[in-house]
Amino acid sequence: STSVVWIRNDLRLNDNIALAEAVKNLGEEDELLLLFHIHPELIREFDLQEDYFFQTVRKFHESSGPLHFIFGEEEEAFRSFFDTVTDAEDIYFNKAETGFGKERDERVLPVFEERGVRTHTYIDHPLHGAEEVTKKDGGLYQVFSPYFKQWQKLTKPPVVKLDTDKMKQHLTDRSGDFTDGEEKYRELTKAPLRKWEEVGEEAAEQRLTRFLDEPIYYYDEDRDIPSKDGTSLMSRYLRTGAISPRTVYHRVLQETDGRKRQDGVESFVRELAFRDFYHMVYYNHPEADDKELTEKFRGIPWNEDEEIFERWKEARTGFPFIDAAMAQMNESGWMHNRARMAVASFLTKDLLIDWRKGERYFNRKLADYEAASNIGGWQWAASTGTDAVPYFRVFNPVRQSERFDKHGDYIKEWLPELRNVPEKYIHEPHKMSEDEQKEAGCTIGEDYPEPMVDHKRMRERAIEIYKQKKD
Ligand code: FAD
Repeated sequence: STSVVWIRNDLRLNDNIALAEAVKNLGEEDELLLLFHIHPELIREFDLQEDYFFQTVRKFHESSGPLHFIFGEEEEAFRSFFDTVTDAEDIYFNKAETGFGKERDERVLPVFEERGVRTHTYIDHPLHGAEEVTKKDGGLYQVFSPYFKQWQKLTKPPVVKLDTDKMKQHLTDRSGDFTDGEEKYRELTKAPLRKWEEVGEEAAEQRLTRFLDEPIYYYDEDRDIPSKDGTSLMSRYLRTGAISPRTVYHRVLQETDGRKRQDGVESFVRELAFRDFYHMVYYNHPEADDKELTEKFRGIPWNEDEEIFERWKEARTGFPFIDAAMAQMNESGWMHNRARMAVASFLTKDLLIDWRKGERYFNRKLADYEAASNIGGWQWAASTGTDAVPYFRVFNPVRQSERFDKHGDYIKEWLPELRNVPEKYIHEPHKMSEDEQKEAGCTIGEDYPEPMVDHKRMRERAIEIYKQKKD
C-alpha cells in the first residue's frame, strides 16, 4: 500500500514529526508518496508572502525527491487524488490548530474517512500545542507572564530523527499522474518577485548557527535596534517550517555557552514562548482575526479614508522611522519587531485606521506571516488584545525614532532620499530650513513628505475615542 505524507508549512526533512512517523511505520512493501496541496484561496493575492513560501516549497522539492502537487478546493482535489492513487491507505500530516488551515483540515477529514484512508496527525508547528500549557484548573491563559512561567516548567518535546535511507528506499514517483498540479507549481515558482537570499532548511540552520555563535548573548539589548542584525531571523523559517521550533530550542540549550552572558539567551527563549502564546490565544479565540478580543473596544469609528491608508502602505507618512519600516517590508518582505510595533501603533492610533486593514496588508507582504502572531501583534498594538498595550500608551513616532535609531542608520538604509539629511534633522526632516534642504538634496513636499498628521493632536483624539468606548 501507499502511505501519503501531506507536506504543508513544514517544509523540511529534519525534525518533521509527520514525515518521521510515516517513514518509521512503513512496511517492506509499502511506498511513500510526498504530497503538496495548492489551495486556490492561499494564492488569491499572490504577493511577497506567497512568493517566499513557494520559493521555500521549491527548495524543499530540490532536496526531498519526488513531490506531487494537487491543485483545487480540498475536497475535490483529494477525491481526485485518491481516484489516482487507489492503494493509499494512510495519510500523515502535521495538523493546523488554528485559522484557515484548521478549517481546511476539518473539511477534508470526511473525505479521508469516506475513502477508508487512516489519518495520522501530529502537533508540530508550535513548541507546545495550544492545549499543553494550561492553568491548574485546566483553563487557558489570557496573560503572557503566567503563561510563560508554566511554559518554562514543561519538558520540551525532543527533536525527532528521520530515517533518511529508509525514506529514500520507499519514495515513489508518480509525477506523471499529477501534471495539472505540477503545472500550477511551476507557474507559481518560475519568476520570483524578488531575489530571496535566505530560503529553506539549509539556510535556516546556517543562520541559526551564526546567531548562536555570538549575537544571541546580546539579543536582549540588540533586539530593539532595527539597524543592527541583532535578531535571529528565524521567523521566516519557522513560518514555512524550514526549521522546527524544537530544533531551535534544543540547539539554543545545547550550543550556547553557560559561562557567557545569559540575559540574551533567556530573552530569546522567552520570544519562542511568545510564538506559542499567540498560537494558543488564536486557538482559544478563533474570532480574533476579525473581532477585538476586548469586547468594549468593538465598533471604534475607524477612519475609512483610503488615501490615508495608501500613504501608510507606501511609506509616505512623513515620519521617517515609520516610512523606513514600511519600505523595509515592502522591499524585503520582513520588518524589524520594534518597527512593527511602531507602524501598527501609528496606523491604529495616529491615523485611526482599522487594525484589520493593517493585519491584512502585513499578510500580503511578510515572508514570515503567521496569522496567530500577526493578529496577536496587531491586537496588542491596537490595545484590543487579551494582554495588550494600554489604550492610553500611544507610541510617539519621533521619540521611537530618536530612541531606537539614534543616528538614523535604519532610516537612511531604507529611505535613500534622506541619506544626506544631517543627523540633527533625521527624525524630523521637515524642520530643515530651505537652505538646509538644498544642501541635503531633499526638498520637503517633493522628495520627502511633510508629516501627514500632528502626533500630539491625534494621540489625544485616539485616547478620547478609546476612553468613550471603555466607559
Ligand atoms: P527574533 O527576535 O529573533 O525572535 C525569535 C522568534 O521568536 C521569532 O522568529 C518568532 O518566531 C518569535 N517571536 C519573536 N517575537 C514575537 C512576538 N512578538 N510574537 C510572536 N512570536 C515572536 N511574527 C511572526 O512570526 N509573524 C508575523 O506575522 C508577525 N506579525 C507581527 C505583527 C505585529 C504588528 C507585531 C508587533 C509583531 C509581529 N510578529 C510576527 C512578531 C515579531 O515581530 C517577529 O516574530 C520578529 O520580528 C521576527 O524576527 P526574528 O525572527 O528575527 O525574531
